[in-house]
Amino acid sequence: MIYLYYTDHFRSYNFGPEHPLNPIRLTLAYKLIEDLGLLDGQTELIRPGPASEEELHQVHTLEYIEAVRLEEPDMAFGLGSDDTPVFPGIFDASCYMAGGSIDAAKRMLEEDCSTFNLGGGLHHAFPTQAAGFCVFNDVALAISVLKKKFSSILYLDIDGHHGDGVQQIFYEDQDVLTFSIHESGKYLFPGTGFVDEVGAGQGLGYAVNIPMPMYAADEDYLRAFEDVVPRLFEWFRPDVVVAQLGVDTHYSDPLTSLNVTLTGYTQMVHRIIELTHKYAGGRLMALGGGGYNLAVVPVAWASVLHLMRDDPLPEYLPPYWVELFSNVVGCEPMTLPDIDMKPGKETQKRISAELSETLSELKRIHSEIHPGKLR
Ligand SMILES: [Zn+2]
Repeated sequence: MIYLYYTDHFRSYNFGPEHPLNPIRLTLAYKLIEDLGLLDGQTELIRPGPASEEELHQVHTLEYIEAVRLEEPDMAFGLGSDDTPVFPGIFDASCYMAGGSIDAAKRMLEEDCSTFNLGGGLHHAFPTQAAGFCVFNDVALAISVLKKKFSSILYLDIDGHHGDGVQQIFYEDQDVLTFSIHESGKYLFPGTGFVDEVGAGQGLGYAVNIPMPMYAADEDYLRAFEDVVPRLFEWFRPDVVVAQLGVDTHYSDPLTSLNVTLTGYTQMVHRIIELTHKYAGGRLMALGGGGYNLAVVPVAWASVLHLMRDDPLPEYLPPYWVELFSNVVGCEPMTLPDIDMKPGKETQKRISAELSETLSELKRIHSEIHPGKLR
């Protein structure tokens, strides 16, 4: 069984009309999934409730939770920045986003299933700090729940930005291996996620990062992914996989400088699902994340659900949904297969060289910690 998480409460997670994170993308994704007829016996819709204070406290301090509840700017807690402004109802809305991932994790403790929280993936939040559009770290909260049953949890983050909050929270934990592939912190927020961030203490070697060159495209992403991720599965043998599937790597995304297409994105997701079946009994918690072109996100995440169900990707979008989309957004949605994005020869040469250097550096550093594991 696959449980899909969506509630109209997700629409209240709204930083305002000028902010790039428009919650309508979640509603449009949910509607597309519904109109494609995917909410059948194989996929069940769950409308989650809000996380409780006790649940939030698994990751966040009581002082921070209280500061969010006050709903007033307080930069000591990262609340009220341009990225993460405070709005009326921010506490409740954040509790619903976290509640989805926590409920999904609880279900995965009780039965053999997969889950997909469209409102999850808020990977930049820290225990005492809001950051990068993220208030509560639903990913870390879900992993904390999964730890009650599973002893090895693999976190895969393919969002365009480094999954810094999740990495930091489990930095000294050898039971949670965090992997993030993202546009290099040399160019992009949050400015971290370099190959030498490898974990610490008991968790040394259990954080893996691939910072990608600017303008990296499908070919580069798939090359880096295949070079590292299958080895992580082989070595770490996870019981369960948590995947943050942000789609702000897309060439049209306004916040990043990458050239991934929907075709490349779905190929990566397909591989995550395949590897999860091979090594982790198919137990996958999929989470949304970034993605700031409204024309991309719904198609990307409906495709994720198709792939989780082992359905072929649809050749056309339901006309009723396309009409709804055009009325709401004012343009046409993206379709699959996406256009072929190839950078010029010189750019491709530069990207390939930078990536080769990154990958060999990554392997050198990790083989000093765990000889042979990532070779
Ligand atoms: Zn992102």
